[in-house]
Amino acid sequence: MNASNKTFVIKHLVVIGTGLIGGSVALALKRAGCVERITGVGRSAQNLEEAVQLGVIDDFSHDIATAVVDADMVLLAVPVAACDQVFSTLAKSLSNQAIITDAGSTKQSVMVSAERHLSDASRFVPAHPIAGTEHSGAAAAFAELFDDKKCILTPNENTDIKALATVQSMWEATGARVKIMSADEHDDVLAAVSHLPHLAAFAIVNAVGKSDHAFRFAAGGFRDFTRIASSSPEMWRDIALCNQSAIVDKIDALQAELSVLRDALTENDGDALLDKFTSAKQARDSWMSKYGDKL
Ligand code: NAD
Repeated sequence: MNASNKTFVIKHLVVIGTGLIGGSVALALKRAGCVERITGVGRSAQNLEEAVQLGVIDDFSHDIATAVVDADMVLLAVPVAACDQVFSTLAKSLSNQAIITDAGSTKQSVMVSAERHLSDASRFVPAHPIAGTEHSGAAAAFAELFDDKKCILTPNENTDIKALATVQSMWEATGARVKIMSADEHDDVLAAVSHLPHLAAFAIVNAVGKSDHAFRFAAGGFRDFTRIASSSPEMWRDIALCNQSAIVDKIDALQAELSVLRDALTENDGDALLDKFTSAKQARDSWMSKYGDKL
């Protein structure tokens, strides 16, 4: 593998978890022409066979330890709580030249697992592409998913500099714009702008969904607000449990905001409602005008 941008080539990439994200990385790297062979690993034979038919991967295996033997790059794209078991299995047969990255939506938990199981965790470069859809599986993958989207890398002081450069080149080859931050900062920021909204969407659908009658009258606003409640429940169970304390803080903040709105309503306090709605509108309008065309 050579990490200088023009000649960056991965000889054998093993994608563990050949779903939306793993499949889209595979397709994007094939589009960039910088990978010679891609092996998919997963639980479902049907999904893996479909991934070969769709040209997402070249071949597949159900056995992580065998698949990674001659890999020069390994990507973990499984639900985050599965990473611990995956690291423990691949550690047995990984070459000491191989570089590992991941795509998990939480970073501290995945780094703890890597350090627990890998003999040399310095060659693991944690990553989280800030791109996705509410769909799952290899059939949902597409090469353009990461184009001009951010991908956050969270190396620490032990991360190997060459491994970091190679992983940065790999994610840039998918079309992503790489940003670097600490795992703590990542988990706090993502709890606010991704994890809390997902939990709120699940909660709102559950609160309203007790009545099918109400659903019949729901329109575009409800559809837009709740789109992410169609995301994989397994994936979100794992994200919630792996970023527990940051998400609990954000839930507390949301509950405090809802309490203010509830009090204003029960007290018929239109000025308080107007204040809250106006400050939220100003914050969102300002965010959209700065960053809306980059989403
Ligand atoms: P997905 O459900 O489409 O794919 C996950 C794949 O992993 C499935 O094929 C599943 O069978 C497989 N898998 C699960 N456990 C496994 C195990 N123990 N061993 C091998 N394979 C296993 O999910 P996805 O959306 O591709 O998400 C993958 C990762 O990317 C998750 O960690 C998620 O947090 C992260 N992520 C998701 C999004 C998104 O919007 N979907 C965005 C950024 C990051």
